[in-house]
Amino acid sequence: MAVTRAAEIDMARVDELIAEEERALEPKQPKSIAFHEVAKKHVAGGVASSWQDAPPHTVYVTEGKGSKIWDLDGNEYVDYHNGYGVMVVGHAHPKIVKAVQERVPKGTHFAQPGPEIVPVAENLVERFKVPLWRFGNSGTEATLDAVRLMRAASGRDLLIKIEGTYHGHHDSLMVSVMPEAEDIGPREHPNSVPQTLGLPQAFADLVRVVPFNDLDALDRTLTENEGRVAGMFIEPAMMNAGIIPPEPGYLEGVREITKRHGVYLAFDEVKTGCSVAWGGAVERWGVQPDIVCLAKVIGGGLPCGAIGATEELMARVISGDMDLQGTFNGNPLTMAASLATLTEILTPDAYDHLEHLNTILADGINSAIDRYALPAYVLTFGAKGSVIYSPTPVRDYRDHLKVDERLSYLAWLVQQNRGVFKSPWAKTETWTIGVQHTDADAQLYVDNFTELASMLAAAS
Ligand code: PMP
Repeated sequence: MAVTRAAEIDMARVDELIAEEERALEPKQPKSIAFHEVAKKHVAGGVASSWQDAPPHTVYVTEGKGSKIWDLDGNEYVDYHNGYGVMVVGHAHPKIVKAVQERVPKGTHFAQPGPEIVPVAENLVERFKVPLWRFGNSGTEATLDAVRLMRAASGRDLLIKIEGTYHGHHDSLMVSVMPEAEDIGPREHPNSVPQTLGLPQAFADLVRVVPFNDLDALDRTLTENEGRVAGMFIEPAMMNAGIIPPEPGYLEGVREITKRHGVYLAFDEVKTGCSVAWGGAVERWGVQPDIVCLAKVIGGGLPCGAIGATEELMARVISGDMDLQGTFNGNPLTMAASLATLTEILTPDAYDHLEHLNTILADGINSAIDRYALPAYVLTFGAKGSVIYSPTPVRDYRDHLKVDERLSYLAWLVQQNRGVFKSPWAKTETWTIGVQHTDADAQLYVDNFTELASMLAAAS
C-alpha cells in the first residue's frame, strides 16, 4: 500500500541522524570492534563471507535462543535477521536440538544415502508439487544444478534471468544482480553485467536479462532468441531488493510464455520456500514451475539445499547420462534437522502464528507511516516483511535503484541501538520472523519503527 500524502524528507538531517546513531552504537559493541582486528589477521577481511561485513562495523554473534541472539559484547537482540532468512524455526528449537543430538552419536557423515532422504523428499513433493528431488548444501548449489539440468534437457545454452535478482555465487547466474545505474543499459534491452571481478564476460553473454513484472519484455526477449534459450530463473517475489511482489497475473503470464516458447521455468525459492507459505511461492501464488530450488529454511539452521524437478528434467540424471553430485549431499545431520523442521515445526498451523505476528508488524508500521506521513510502505508475506522507503510502489529493480539507501541504513541503526537485529545491507534485505517470536517481539520492532518515523518527520 503506497501512502497518498508523503512528506519530503530532509536528507541532510538524515545524514546527521545516521552520525548520531553510529556514535550511540559504537560504545555498545567495543568487543566486536576490537575482535575484527584480531580476526583480520588470518581470516580475509575478518569475516567468513563478504556480506557479513557491513557498515558501521562487523558484529560478532555468539549465541541464539528462541527469537533472541547475543553478540560478543553480551548485547541481547530480537532477531529479525535470522541468518539471512534461514531460522524460521528460531534458535536452538528443542526439536532441532533433539534431532541433532540423537543423530550425532550415530555418525554424521557417510556419503552413502540414508533412509531420511525419503520422508524429506515426500514432504517437499507435497509442498511444492514437483515429483523428484536431490539434496545439496546451499542455495548456490541448488541453482547451479538447475542450470545444468535445463541445459542438459534442452541442449541449449542461453538463460533468462530477472534484472536485480541474486541466485547464489556461481558463474552462470551472477549476472546483473545489483548492477549500477550507469551500467544497466536501456530498459528494452538491459545489459548483462558481470556482478563481480573474476566473472568472465563469456558467462554474462549466455544470460539475457529482463525486468520483473514485465510480460511484454519477456515475450519479446524469447522471440528474439527463439530456439536458443534453455530456461528462465525467477524469484517469484524478489526478496533481495526489499520485497517486490509479483503483480496479479504476472507469474501466470511467465508460465504461459515460457511454455509457449518451449523454455523451462525454475522458481528460485531459496528465500520464499517454506517462508511465504507452507508450500512457498508455489502455494502462495498458485503457479507451477518445472524446477524448484530450495535452501535456507528447510535445513532448520544446518547447511542445506534441494532441487526438485519434473520427471522429464530428471530423466538424464536417473539414466546416468548426467551427474548431479556432491560429497555432502543428503548428509544425515542435515537431513535429521530438515525432517524435524518440515514435519514437526513448520506445520501448517505454524504459518498462522507467523501471519499473526506479521499483522502486528504491518498494522503498527502502517499506523506510524500514516501518522507521520512517511514516504514509505510495508509488505508482509508469511515469515517475511519489508518496509520500502518509496512513496510509490517499487515494481522492478530500476525502481528499486531510486530508493535512497540512507533511510534504510538509518532504520537498521535505530533498530540495532534499541534491541532489534536486522539483516545488514538492509536496503536490499527483508526481515524474517520465526515460530518462536512473540507478540512482544513484534511490538518492539513497531515501537522502534514509530520512533524512527517521528525522527524522520522532525527531519522533514
Ligand atoms: N537464491 C536466493 C534467492 C538467495 O537469496 C540466495 C542467498 N541469499 C541464494 C540463492 C544463494 O544461497 P546460498 O547463500 O545458500 O548459496
